Amino acid sequence: MQQKIRLLAREYLPEVTAARRHLHQHPELSWQEKETAAFIRKFLAPLNIELRITGDLLATVAIIRGVKPGPTVGLRADIDALPIAEKSELPYRSQNIGCMHACGHDGHTAVLLGATKILAELRHELHGNIICVFQPAEEHNGGGKALLASNLLHGFDIGAFFALHTWPYLPVGTIGIKRGTMMSAIDDFEVVIHGKAGHAAHPLAAIDPVLIAAHVITAVQSLVTRERHGAEPAVISVTMIHGGTADNVIPAEVRLGGTIRTLQTETRERMNRRFTELIEGVAQSFGGSAEVKLAPGYPALVNDDRMVDFVESIAKEIVGSSKVVELKEPSMGGEDFAYYLQKYSGAMFRLGVGPAPSLHSDTFNFNDEALETGMMMMTNLALKFLD
Ligand SMILES: [Zn+2]
Ligand SMILES: [Zn+2]
Repeated sequence: MQQKIRLLAREYLPEVTAARRHLHQHPELSWQEKETAAFIRKFLAPLNIELRITGDLLATVAIIRGVKPGPTVGLRADIDALPIAEKSELPYRSQNIGCMHACGHDGHTAVLLGATKILAELRHELHGNIICVFQPAEEHNGGGKALLASNLLHGFDIGAFFALHTWPYLPVGTIGIKRGTMMSAIDDFEVVIHGKAGHAAHPLAAIDPVLIAAHVITAVQSLVTRERHGAEPAVISVTMIHGGTADNVIPAEVRLGGTIRTLQTETRERMNRRFTELIEGVAQSFGGSAEVKLAPGYPALVNDDRMVDFVESIAKEIVGSSKVVELKEPSMGGEDFAYYLQKYSGAMFRLGVGPAPSLHSDTFNFNDEALETGMMMMTNLALKFLD
């Protein structure tokens, strides 16, 4: 069987590589993946497998039913791109100006298209069902959550879900695994600091929100060192600051934006509560006021350790023990596959594509040399889970 899968993976590799490059050239933002969804459906159509789609969600779910009864396993790929202007000379660089596959989702989609094709070819030998999910909007506003709330997976008792993510910090040909918490919870914030506008030369008659903002930005970093357990990571990044119109005018307000990342529920709740209290307090102490809006984002991604053991055993077979890397630290990035793992058993793992520029940078490009390993991993995870 292993031999047969390897042969099929090699046979389909040129087509899968072409698909990856097509996707790279035609990236679409979260919730706008119309052409991408059409491309995926067109690729899958000749396989003669059941496709479940919804018009508005832009998700595609491919179902491979084995001829014999057995368990059901899910594989998931994300399909969206980012609002980044690509800087590259690649012949297949983005044609959608200002939009770019900078997180490797073009690779994830191509890998799962290839794996679906291999699994469809093997359906007569399957005991159970394999569900391949092509999910929109991972980067923005949780397509995963919407997908799980839809009826696309209705009627299946899914025993486990697996997903991979591109990792430029591991060499191509390696697989990274992480037990327990692998990625952080996200809470984005928007803060408006209200002061009182006035002449820059007469600050006594004004309340300066720019000065308050400076204190706020410094003060919130104290939460990271003083308001969490030393062993529990937390990150607060203020990434946007907007205010003012002229060099001689104190503005009426300043807006800040950014993100809070935590791994544990308790730390998350405390950070969010203290963040709001601290900013309101600082603003008041200077005579101003603050509105703090927190938008709860993705939960932390927590792998099921038994499923990580399973991923590890398969990775060792495919790439060899020396190329399976146990990652020591969780990433403070977020990932909406976390929602799947709140509902189902399963695991996410890292697919090495390095050396490569960092994720979300304007020169990132998924390494096509990793496609075969990705296909082998996804196909074997599904088949061995059914065994
Ligand atoms: Zn990303
Ligand atoms: Zn990503």
